[in-house]
Amino acid sequence: MARLRALPPLASSLPPLVPVAPKQTDAELGTAAHRTWARQVKERAGYRCQDPEHDRATPRSGPGVALYADHVEERQDAPHRALDPLNGMCRCASCHVRKTHRARAARHGA
Ligand SMILES: [Zn+2]
Repeated sequence: MARLRALPPLASSLPPLVPVAPKQTDAELGTAAHRTWARQVKERAGYRCQDPEHDRATPRSGPGVALYADHVEERQDAPHRALDPLNGMCRCASCHVRKTHRARAARHGA
């Protein structure tokens, strides 16, 4: 019987598309005030992804759909609106990732 051989991962040899700073814990995201803001954003959205670019082939809500309260104007750009429920959009995981990558690329000029 032939032996299976594991190949080394390809991803580690590829350069990152966008410079990424080391992940740091953001203390503000763990505060009660932030959790309240996130709940308000999701409640206002009816616990549905509000992203206008959401993939219509996937559900916006329901079991298995992870939802995130996302800042429309990012906290570092508008710290005074960090806890403004009107500055939040409820997004599913894929929409949140897409928006975050775009924002990061724009910030770093990629
Ligand atoms: Zn979505």
